[in-house]
Amino acid sequence: MAGFRIREPEMLALGMRLPSLAQRAAAVGALPSLGLLTLAGLAPAHWEMTWHESTSQRDPESLAALAERIAATRPDLAAISALTASIDDAYALAGLLRRRGVRVVMGGLHVTSCPDEASQQCDAVVVGEAEGVWERVLEDAAGGRLATRYRAEKPFDLGQAPLPRWDLLGGRARPRYTLQTSRGCPFACDFCGASRLLGPFREKPAERIAAELKHITSRQPRACIELADDNTFAGRRDPGLLLAAMARSGVRWFTECDWRIGERPDVLSALAASGCVQVLVGVETMEVGAESYSGFGAKRAPLARVERALENIQKAGVAVIGCFVVGGDHDDEESIMRLGQWLLEAPLADVQITVQTPFPGTPLRERLAREGRLLPDRGWESCTLFDVAYQPARMTVQSLERAFRYLVALVHAPRAGARRAAIRKQVWAQRYGAKQESA
Ligand code: SF4
Repeated sequence: MAGFRIREPEMLALGMRLPSLAQRAAAVGALPSLGLLTLAGLAPAHWEMTWHESTSQRDPESLAALAERIAATRPDLAAISALTASIDDAYALAGLLRRRGVRVVMGGLHVTSCPDEASQQCDAVVVGEAEGVWERVLEDAAGGRLATRYRAEKPFDLGQAPLPRWDLLGGRARPRYTLQTSRGCPFACDFCGASRLLGPFREKPAERIAAELKHITSRQPRACIELADDNTFAGRRDPGLLLAAMARSGVRWFTECDWRIGERPDVLSALAASGCVQVLVGVETMEVGAESYSGFGAKRAPLARVERALENIQKAGVAVIGCFVVGGDHDDEESIMRLGQWLLEAPLADVQITVQTPFPGTPLRERLAREGRLLPDRGWESCTLFDVAYQPARMTVQSLERAFRYLVALVHAPRAGARRAAIRKQVWAQRYGAKQESA
C-alpha cells in the first residue's frame, strides 16, 4: 500500500488545488515500498516473487481487481505492508485474498504496534523487523506450518542487508529510488512513530551503502535517490564515508535530518559535492514570537540559532524543506497564524506542514488516550498527517482544522510558492552555476 492519504474532503480538495503540495504528494506516492523489495532480496533463489502496488484510497473495486491479479499468480504466500493511514485498505485486501485461498502475512510499523488487531485480519504477523525471520516465514509457508506470529530475536545487522529486488518493478522507469543508510533515530520525540519501533538506532556500513548504490545505478545511471532514513546524520558514524560513497556513485539525493547539521562543517563541507540536492529538516513545533522554539530534547534551541543553521545548509548549496507540525498543546489559532506569517518571510527553499498525529506505538498516542482526547469517530484512516484525530488542548477540533487549512493555503499559495522556488534556484545556482539553474 503506497501513496498519500487524506480523509477530510475539504483538505483533500485543497491539496489538489495547490500545485506545490500535489507535486510533493506525487513524489512520495511514486516511491516504491523498500521494505517488501528488501525482503524479496532475502528470499532463497527457488522462490519466485511478484510485486504489486496499490495507491487507491478506500476503493473497493480497485482492491478487488488487485486481489484478483495477485490470486491469479497462485501464490504460496502474499506479504502486505502498509502504514496506519492505509491499514484499513490493507486489511480489506488481506480479507479478499484469504477468501480466494491465499495465505497472508502482514508486517510494518502499524502491525508492529497493533499485532493483536492485525492477527484478526491475516494468517501471520511479523512484529518488528522482518529480515531476521523472513526465511523462516517462507519455509513455514512452504511446509504448510505458518505460525500466527513471528518476531526476530535480535536486531538485524544492517551490514547484512540484502540488495532490494528492483527488478521486480519491471521495466517501468521510476522517478526516484529509495535507500536506507540508517534505521530509526537516537532521539525519541513523543509524536514520532519511526524512531524506535523497529529496534535500536543503527547505521549501515559505507561499503554496504556503496553496493546498493551500484545496484541502483546499474539500473538507472545518475538516479535520483530519496534516503529512507529518519535522521541521516544523527549517529556517530563518520559522515565523510557516507558522503564519499554518494559522491562516487554520481546520484542526486535527498534525505531527512535535523537542523543541527547546519552547525557541522564536517557534513556541510562535502554535502553538496556528494550530490545532495535538498534535505527535509524537522523544525517541528515552533513558537514564533517567543525566544525559544519548542523542539524536543537535543533539538530544542533558540529560534535564532536554528535559523542560522538552516541558512548555513542553504549557503552550502543544499535546499532546505522546513518541516513543521501544528496542533501541539502549546498551539492555538493565533500561534498557527503567527507561524504562517513567519513562513511567508522565512529563508526556506520549501516547507512541509502537517498536523500532529497520534500514531500507534507513540508516547503521544498513549498520553492522549490516558487523557481521553482521542476522537472515537476518527480511526486509523485519520492518521494521515493532514487530519485531526484528537482533541487539541487550546482550541476545538474544528478550529484546528480551520487554522491548518488556512496555514496550508497561505504557505502554498502561488505567490509564496514562487518566492520559495526563487530561493531554491538561488541555492542551487551556487552549486551548479547559472547554466543549470532551472534543473
Ligand atoms: S528527531 Fe525526527 S526522526 Fe528522530 S525521533 Fe524526533 S521526529 Fe523522529
